Amino acid sequence: MNSDLKAAVLERCRKMEIPLVGIAGTDRWENPPFRPWMPEEFYPQSIFPGARSVIVIGLPIHLPVLETSPSIYYHELYKTVNTLLDQYTYRLASFLNDCGYPSVFVPRDGYGSIEVLRKNPVAFFSHRHAALLAGLGTFGVNNTLLTPEYGPRVRFGSVITAADLPPDPLLAENLCTRCMLCVEACPVGALDERDYPEGLTDKAACAENSAELARRHISPCGICIKVCPVGEDRRHYGRSTLAADGDPRHRRAREHVQKYGGL
Ligand code: SF4
Ligand code: SF4
Repeated sequence: MNSDLKAAVLERCRKMEIPLVGIAGTDRWENPPFRPWMPEEFYPQSIFPGARSVIVIGLPIHLPVLETSPSIYYHELYKTVNTLLDQYTYRLASFLNDCGYPSVFVPRDGYGSIEVLRKNPVAFFSHRHAALLAGLGTFGVNNTLLTPEYGPRVRFGSVITAADLPPDPLLAENLCTRCMLCVEACPVGALDERDYPEGLTDKAACAENSAELARRHISPCGICIKVCPVGEDRRHYGRSTLAADGDPRHRRAREHVQKYGGL
């Protein structure tokens, strides 16, 4: 295992101000922490034969912006974070290639439009599962990956590499409190109370809602991640659960933002 190369990757991430980084060996896809698991063709070593490790990075969604969702404000933040993830993972893959280790980035969203998602609601690679295997978080009832730092308010990007990097340990503690706020808040009843992977999101209902918001230029929805109480970011922003509804100043801010920029 190449510890020096891992240290160099972490240093580059630090210089790019990437707050979350984790590494998983590709063997973890073959020995997953729960079942049912994904089919083999979704494994990183199937997508990029010769792969030995996956580097996963995470960038936070700023909670006060998400509190305005659905809104043009969250819509723009979502696009910005996706663009940064694509750029950072591309640059990290380029760095590893320059060091002599064949590597590729994996694009953030990996689907052409919500119309495509309605027909086939799965991407060719799952960053969420990669982040789980890289020790960055655990799945919640809302089917997202919860992290200690930002709860589910974080988006992930991945680099698949032939470099044999020391992996990070899986997170031992299950972070989901099973409060069911996400289940209660979903506007289309797409979530149920069972833990992942037994309780799967009704992807058709979620995609239908997203399509309607996209027509109004204020997708994605994000309600099941804005209500989640898990994450140090709530303390950072001085937000208790659903602060946007409890504090009149936050509610006024949200109502102001929602009047502009979308239909
Ligand atoms: S994104 Fe919105 S519609 Fe989809 S599961 Fe979450 S709350 Fe429900
Ligand atoms: S809102 Fe509650 S039940 Fe849903 S993922 Fe977060 S902690 Fe789990």
